[in-house]
Amino acid sequence: MRDNLHKRLAALREHILEADIDALVITNPTNRRYISGFTGSAGILLVNATCAFLATDFRYYEQAPSQAPAFSLKKGGNEIAKLLPQMLDDMHASRVGFESVHLSYADYQTYIQAAPQVEWVPTTGLVEDLRVSKDGAELDLIRQAVALTDTAFTEVTPQFKQGMTEREAAWLLESFMRVHGAEQMAFDIIVAGGPNGAMPHAHPSDAPLLRGQPIVIDMGARVQGYDADMTRTICLGPTDNTFREIYAIVLRAQQAATAALRPQMSGKEVDTIARQIITEAGYGDYFGHSLGHGAGLDIHERPRLSQSSSEILKPGNTVTIEPGIYLPGWGGIRIEDFAVITETGCEVLTKASKEASIPGT
Ligand code: ZN
Ligand code: ZN
Repeated sequence: MRDNLHKRLAALREHILEADIDALVITNPTNRRYISGFTGSAGILLVNATCAFLATDFRYYEQAPSQAPAFSLKKGGNEIAKLLPQMLDDMHASRVGFESVHLSYADYQTYIQAAPQVEWVPTTGLVEDLRVSKDGAELDLIRQAVALTDTAFTEVTPQFKQGMTEREAAWLLESFMRVHGAEQMAFDIIVAGGPNGAMPHAHPSDAPLLRGQPIVIDMGARVQGYDADMTRTICLGPTDNTFREIYAIVLRAQQAATAALRPQMSGKEVDTIARQIITEAGYGDYFGHSLGHGAGLDIHERPRLSQSSSEILKPGNTVTIEPGIYLPGWGGIRIEDFAVITETGCEVLTKASKEASIPGT
């Protein structure tokens, strides 16, 4: 892991050079963790060609040096921004980048007041450009998170019964993942039966699971910061004709996009492959979200697989492939796998069964 952190810092320094700035302030918690290893909730990184500072508050003086050995700890008490003038002075920095997408206006004001002598330069995506290609250490953790998610689905869903509430079902999945090593959920689990499943991001409710209805289950474990993301749609007991028809279309769209997925395609091209199949089957208006997204330290990150994504896919990118059809009043069907782009195509990490009908009594 330490080797990976050194490589990330070296790569960031190249980006800083290319961006024509002397130093970069990193305030986004995920970017801060990715570059330094520090997982605390407060702190700023300041990086230039030769120095790397981590300024944080009293709560983290113990944890910061062990998590972020490449960074010099700066003790900021309750006002970290007050350290800026001295740190920037030590670096002889005059053009200092900040993360324009992440720094709040109020914090920006604090920074420019604390260090008015430097030119503050808005930057975007300097760290995200690195995060989009996962290194070996990251892929190991992602594989663990995906495998745990698969196991939870396989072990727990046979316990689902008619009359069990969505919330109860979600809790069974969550508790299995926590007991078996998830530090937390990647996001709130979705269990949405019948009409509730027509809302792609429904919250589990008191509604009972019923035989014959589509039940959308979207879940993911988080392991050492890395998120899994998987959706399956199941049915307690036999499926009806509508279920089978819609399910087959969604599955076909997912399989076609997966088979095509490879480096050098754009996010839009992949989205189009799945969207065309669903549109030609007459359900284009009922697939309102994008095909997929990157995932890693954040559950939604680059690259996006959507009509508005011109990003070119590269080996080491992770993506979800999750087409869906949502019919108001009836329910939804979504199937989502987690894949990593390889040199020649993609490897689907998700292994959970796509057999929709489970016995459930
Ligand atoms: Zn999902
Ligand atoms: Zn997803």
